[in-house]
Amino acid sequence: MFSDLKLDPKVLKAIADTGYETPTPIQAGAIPPALEGKDVLGIAQTGTGKTASFVLPMITLLGRGRARARMPRSLVLAPTRELAAQVAENFDKYAKYTKLTKALLIGGVSFGEQDKLIDRGVDVLIATPGRLLDHFERGKLLLTGVQIMVVDEADRMLDMGFIPDIERIFQLTPFTRQTLFFSATMAPEIERITNTFLHSPARIEVARQATASETIEQRLIEIHPARRDQAAKQKRELLRALIAAEGDTCTNAILFCNRKTEVDILAKSLKKHGFNAAPIHGDLDQSQRTRTLDGFRDGTLRFLVASDVAARGLDIPAVSHVFNFDVPSHAEDYVHRIGRTGRAGRKGCAITLSTPADTKYLEAIESLLKTTLPRATAPAGFEISRSARQPAHKSEERGRKGGRPEQGGGRSRGRADSRKSTQETAAANAETVIETAPSEAQPAAESRPNRPAKGKPRSDGRRDAKDGPVIGMGDHVPDFLTRGS
Ligand code: AMP
Repeated sequence: MFSDLKLDPKVLKAIADTGYETPTPIQAGAIPPALEGKDVLGIAQTGTGKTASFVLPMITLLGRGRARARMPRSLVLAPTRELAAQVAENFDKYAKYTKLTKALLIGGVSFGEQDKLIDRGVDVLIATPGRLLDHFERGKLLLTGVQIMVVDEADRMLDMGFIPDIERIFQLTPFTRQTLFFSATMAPEIERITNTFLHSPARIEVARQATASETIEQRLIEIHPARRDQAAKQKRELLRALIAAEGDTCTNAILFCNRKTEVDILAKSLKKHGFNAAPIHGDLDQSQRTRTLDGFRDGTLRFLVASDVAARGLDIPAVSHVFNFDVPSHAEDYVHRIGRTGRAGRKGCAITLSTPADTKYLEAIESLLKTTLPRATAPAGFEISRSARQPAHKSEERGRKGGRPEQGGGRSRGRADSRKSTQETAAANAETVIETAPSEAQPAAESRPNRPAKGKPRSDGRRDAKDGPVIGMGDHVPDFLTRGS
């Protein structure tokens, strides 16, 4: 029972309003040591109730004392804007009977508004690392008053290259602070950070979701395009046939792509074909991302086309289907992705499309899951259309190659594929649109899935396309590629 934990009565009252009665394992494990002022190392992933496991004790601990101008009393760092916003929502929910104040520092929101809040003094500052440092460097913020610092989704911070920022922020806060640190996995680099910055932490580990939930029906459909540059197009055709075949059982779905450009292309293509779809990834502006997510949550949007970073950690109610338009290049992402369906005992269906180029990634997934993904066939009567069998127009290949790996954090450039050709309006279908999109973007790792691109080292020492910049163009992308459509 929550009432057994020594939480502030105001917090207990807010919990009672939510209807939650029993703490989840991470909450039961993390809250008591956190309330005693100890450092906590929580090894748990999203969906376990980990947000409340740090928000509840924080509110209780901050209950006494008052915020001073420009000196927040606590700090929560999250890797993406959405996750930071989610923490802020949790804070609002559980702190509603207190007088604590918060500020959310994320990209896409004006500095001015955020400055005003900080100036007034906040108890809780919730931020993405880049934005926090931007504020700090503008001299608007002092971190010497931070008594509690939370790092959420540290492994994702690592994937996104935020670890140096995190280290710097740690150093800007007082040595005497209390640290609550959460990560789904303990990669060596994460271990190093925790050894350096946490003091005798209480370590709470909740069961890893190394196996997929029993309630998820998994299917793998392999296609064998004669040429690699036909793969995306053929997969889009197959996907439409699969959605049609699932019929009403597919109430809503998240469709995962490995790259932001592919997310945009797929969403555009689905829309052209009459599907109620919208994209979400780190390059879209914040208001658009929020609108899309709200629509998906309230059921007005049926298909959410997403990148891993954008979707990771989002608290989205159970979806009936997950489609892996691309096989994820990190095996753990497969588990995260399909875990979006089949939640809370409900049935879910996860369908993965693969091509021979994905063999290596599939093997990694099957070895992580210690099982073979059930192979399935395309829906009866499905045939690749003539046009999808034709070699794709050169520009489609180049267009997709323009994709930058998802970095999230909102610090990257605008969409690379929002361009439109003059032929677009006349185009009979989305495939043609995509093919005719002019582009001169750089070669992407997508077309060389077996050859790692230059990038940040992953936790396991691997480097791969998803982590690194795209070879060929450096940071330069011609302006017309980033212009809104
Ligand atoms: P999180 O892992 O923090 O993203 O939380 C996942 C979901 O679990 C969120 O929708 C929470 O509102 C919900 N949740 C958090 N704590 C509890 C609890 N004790 N009982 C039931 N649901 C909870």
